[in-house]
Amino acid sequence: MSNLEHQDTIVALATPQGVSALAVIRLSGEDAIDIVNQVFHGRDLNHVESHTLHFGTIRENDKIVDEVLVSVFRAPRSFTKENSIEISCHGSMFIVQQIIKLLVLQGARVAKAGEYTQRAFLNGKFDLAQAEAVADIIHADSEAARKAAMDQMRGGFSNEIKALRDELIHFASMIELELDFSEEDVEFADREQLKGLINNLLHKINALIQSFEVGNVIKNGVPTVIAGKPNAGKSTLLNALLKEERAIVSDIAGTTRDMIEDEINIGGISFRFIDTAGLRDTADTIEAIGVEKARKKMTEASLILYLFDLTNESLADIQADVERLESQPVPFIGIANKSDLAAPELVKELGNSENIITISAKNPDDLHRLEKEILRKVNLEGFKTGDTIVTNLRHHEQLVRTKEALQTVIAGIDNGVTNDFTAMDIRQALHHLGEITGQITTDDL
Ligand code: GDP
Repeated sequence: MSNLEHQDTIVALATPQGVSALAVIRLSGEDAIDIVNQVFHGRDLNHVESHTLHFGTIRENDKIVDEVLVSVFRAPRSFTKENSIEISCHGSMFIVQQIIKLLVLQGARVAKAGEYTQRAFLNGKFDLAQAEAVADIIHADSEAARKAAMDQMRGGFSNEIKALRDELIHFASMIELELDFSEEDVEFADREQLKGLINNLLHKINALIQSFEVGNVIKNGVPTVIAGKPNAGKSTLLNALLKEERAIVSDIAGTTRDMIEDEINIGGISFRFIDTAGLRDTADTIEAIGVEKARKKMTEASLILYLFDLTNESLADIQADVERLESQPVPFIGIANKSDLAAPELVKELGNSENIITISAKNPDDLHRLEKEILRKVNLEGFKTGDTIVTNLRHHEQLVRTKEALQTVIAGIDNGVTNDFTAMDIRQALHHLGEITGQITTDDL
């Protein structure tokens, strides 16, 4: 524990505020075990092994505050690499406050938001990209988001960045070496080979930059607008898509439906239905796109699901509307609904139309087809390949800057700039790559 500032012991509730069966209070710092030992009655925690669990009571003088389970983690084998304790107590906020108050009296300090992860980072438990992933894991609300964050925390992304840096560092050191011998005019680094390497790096970096589009979708959900004339079947479709999820949710006692009312999980991707209160029910929604506010809502979306009522609209009507949808920038799916009631000729005629899928919102097979089409529309087919996906805006920005610096290196070589310029541009690229994982670059050289 080299960093003096971080030697104090911090304490905080690790589970959400509010009544629950159990709550976990977490401490980290050199005196964590000592401090808990002062108020814990059970085994003497100063003499127990790391990674052990102990039943006992937390007491204020002679008064028992709660019966608890205490887990002990000794440095460096903990999340923060410091001595750590987790106290599982009963989930009453009154009890939690009493216990935290007692621990503060014994010398702990209430932790600031993110301080545990910050310590883990400062103590070298993991790099910055991994630390950021911890927050993403906590906030992950779909399987895809969880997987991307977990890969990042476990270092997949960081390893990729490190590999890129190592390649670049090798060449940078060659160039720096040439600088040392500048009088002699030697060339340690073959310029064509260097260009080849940098183009290869650019290729990988471009792939990462492009993955951000998918990454952003995974992390934040796809903002989706569902629109169409009244009675086209918007609510029916929404409810049908929600059905599976609802079945799961209602099994969990005490959860409310409201929270995910407008969020649907398809293929592990979360689709956020933007509240288009005004839009959903205007008689002519596409007309309404002309209205400034409605237009804004529409363009905030990454996907528009536009429903047509086959019992109420002619082929010409539908085609005219689809044409108007095609003239706006947001990807859309025209959904010709109520095929079970529609005239067979109409269904047949629509069969060949691009951008239209014919369904009955009441037919599960059709819903499956629609879900597939939705995933295809948002370009997520390639996403399960196990490739690294950039989900963090900061990483994306640094990758773009790395790319720019590398392009400058290549332009420099082509224009025959001197070594010190090339070295400088490479350092710039290394700097931006290092920013992602929080590594300092000049030492490496
Ligand atoms: P909204 O106004 O667009 O939200 O339309 P609703 O979802 O309320 O649907 C209007 C009516 O059409 C309801 O009575 C639905 O049961 C019915 N409906 C919706 N989709 C279908 C379908 O695919 N087939 C049939 N037969 N009825 C449907």
